[in-house]
Amino acid sequence: MDAERKALADHASEFSRHGRKFEKAIDTVLSGGVKECRFLPSRRQILSVVGTLGDEFIDPSKPYCSCGNFFFRVSGGKEETCYHLLSFSIAAKTGRIDILEFSDEEFGDYLSAIAGDVFEVLTKDG
Ligand SMILES: [Zn+2]
Repeated sequence: MDAERKALADHASEFSRHGRKFEKAIDTVLSGGVKECRFLPSRRQILSVVGTLGDEFIDPSKPYCSCGNFFFRVSGGKEETCYHLLSFSIAAKTGRIDILEFSDEEFGDYLSAIAGDVFEVLTKDG
Protein backbone atom coordinates (compact mmCIF):
# COMPACT_ATOMS: atom_id res chain seq x y z
CA MET A 1 0.00 0.00 0.00
CA ASP A 2 1.16 3.47 -0.91
CA ALA A 3 2.59 5.31 2.13
CA GLU A 4 0.70 8.54 1.51
CA ARG A 5 -2.56 6.65 1.18
CA LYS A 6 -1.90 4.74 4.38
CA ALA A 7 -1.05 7.94 6.28
CA LEU A 8 -4.26 9.55 5.09
CA ALA A 9 -6.35 6.49 5.96
CA ASP A 10 -4.80 6.41 9.43
CA HIS A 11 -5.45 10.09 9.95
CA ALA A 12 -9.09 9.65 8.92
CA SER A 13 -9.57 6.29 10.66
CA GLU A 14 -12.67 7.55 12.52
CA PHE A 15 -14.48 7.23 9.16
CA SER A 16 -13.17 3.75 8.32
CA ARG A 17 -16.40 2.07 9.51
CA HIS A 18 -17.87 3.15 6.14
CA GLY A 19 -15.86 0.33 4.51
CA ARG A 20 -15.91 0.47 0.70
CA LYS A 21 -17.11 4.07 0.68
CA PHE A 22 -14.19 4.96 2.90
CA GLU A 23 -11.70 3.41 0.46
CA LYS A 24 -13.29 5.26 -2.45
CA ALA A 25 -13.32 8.51 -0.48
CA ILE A 26 -9.62 8.14 0.39
CA ASP A 27 -8.80 7.74 -3.31
CA THR A 28 -10.93 10.77 -4.16
CA VAL A 29 -9.19 12.94 -1.57
CA LEU A 30 -5.74 11.73 -2.70
CA SER A 31 -6.47 12.72 -6.28
CA GLY A 32 -7.47 16.25 -5.19
CA GLY A 33 -11.13 15.62 -5.97
CA VAL A 34 -12.59 17.74 -3.17
CA LYS A 35 -12.79 21.35 -4.33
CA GLU A 36 -14.01 24.56 -2.82
CA CYS A 37 -14.69 27.42 -5.21
CA ARG A 38 -14.70 30.79 -3.49
CA PHE A 39 -16.14 33.85 -5.13
CA LEU A 40 -14.77 37.20 -4.00
CA PRO A 41 -15.58 39.67 -2.61
CA SER A 42 -18.95 38.08 -1.72
CA ARG A 43 -17.31 34.97 -0.24
CA ARG A 44 -19.94 32.75 -1.79
CA GLN A 45 -18.72 29.19 -1.83
CA ILE A 46 -19.49 26.11 -3.83
CA LEU A 47 -18.20 22.73 -2.77
CA SER A 48 -17.81 19.97 -5.27
CA VAL A 49 -16.43 16.46 -5.32
CA VAL A 50 -15.22 14.74 -8.46
CA GLY A 51 -17.11 11.49 -8.78
CA THR A 52 -17.26 8.60 -11.21
CA LEU A 53 -20.06 10.34 -13.14
CA GLY A 54 -18.54 13.83 -13.03
CA ASP A 55 -18.64 16.57 -10.40
CA GLU A 56 -21.22 16.34 -7.65
CA PHE A 57 -22.19 19.37 -5.60
CA ILE A 58 -22.39 19.10 -1.87
CA ASP A 59 -23.56 21.10 1.11
CA PRO A 60 -22.20 19.35 4.20
CA SER A 61 -24.13 21.68 6.53
CA LYS A 62 -27.50 20.29 5.41
CA PRO A 63 -26.18 17.63 4.51
CA TYR A 64 -26.85 17.43 0.79
CA CYS A 65 -25.19 15.89 -2.25
CA SER A 66 -26.34 16.06 -5.86
CA CYS A 67 -25.57 12.38 -6.58
CA GLY A 68 -28.17 9.71 -7.18
CA ASN A 69 -26.98 7.60 -4.30
CA PHE A 70 -27.67 10.43 -1.89
CA PHE A 71 -31.09 11.09 -3.39
CA PHE A 72 -32.25 7.48 -3.39
CA ARG A 73 -30.49 5.94 -0.43
CA VAL A 74 -29.27 8.56 2.03
CA SER A 75 -32.30 10.86 2.05
CA GLY A 76 -34.45 7.71 2.20
CA GLY A 77 -32.64 6.66 5.37
CA LYS A 78 -31.12 3.48 3.91
CA GLU A 79 -27.54 4.74 4.13
CA GLU A 80 -25.84 7.20 6.41
CA THR A 81 -23.83 9.11 3.82
CA CYS A 82 -22.53 8.95 0.26
CA TYR A 83 -18.83 8.81 -0.57
CA HIS A 84 -18.81 12.41 -1.83
CA LEU A 85 -19.83 13.76 1.57
CA LEU A 86 -17.46 11.30 3.18
CA SER A 87 -14.65 12.55 0.92
CA PHE A 88 -15.39 16.08 2.05
CA SER A 89 -15.28 15.07 5.74
CA ILE A 90 -11.92 13.40 5.24
CA ALA A 91 -10.52 16.30 3.19
CA ALA A 92 -11.73 18.85 5.75
CA LYS A 93 -10.18 16.92 8.61
CA THR A 94 -6.85 16.43 6.88
CA GLY A 95 -6.57 19.86 5.22
CA ARG A 96 -6.79 18.49 1.69
CA ILE A 97 -9.55 20.62 0.22
CA ASP A 98 -8.41 22.14 -3.05
CA ILE A 99 -9.40 25.83 -2.83
CA LEU A 100 -9.97 27.79 -6.03
CA GLU A 101 -10.69 31.52 -6.02
CA PHE A 102 -12.77 33.37 -8.55
CA SER A 103 -14.19 36.85 -8.79
CA ASP A 104 -17.92 37.41 -8.38
CA GLU A 105 -18.09 38.44 -12.05
CA GLU A 106 -17.22 34.87 -12.93
CA PHE A 107 -20.02 33.38 -10.83
CA GLY A 108 -22.58 33.38 -13.61
CA ASP A 109 -20.18 31.78 -16.06
CA TYR A 110 -19.24 29.21 -13.49
CA LEU A 111 -22.83 28.20 -12.87
CA SER A 112 -23.50 28.03 -16.59
CA ALA A 113 -20.50 25.81 -17.09
CA ILE A 114 -21.39 23.38 -14.35
CA ALA A 115 -25.12 23.22 -14.65
CA GLY A 116 -25.80 24.14 -18.26
CA ASP A 117 -29.14 25.41 -19.38
CA VAL A 118 -30.95 25.51 -16.04
CA PHE A 119 -28.64 28.07 -14.52
CA GLU A 120 -27.98 29.83 -17.76
CA VAL A 121 -31.58 31.04 -17.70
CA LEU A 122 -31.23 32.25 -14.10
CA THR A 123 -28.04 34.19 -14.68
CA LYS A 124 -28.97 35.86 -17.94
CA ASP A 125 -28.90 39.64 -17.95
CA GLY A 126 -32.17 41.42 -18.61
ZN1 LIG B 1 -22.84 11.98 -3.22
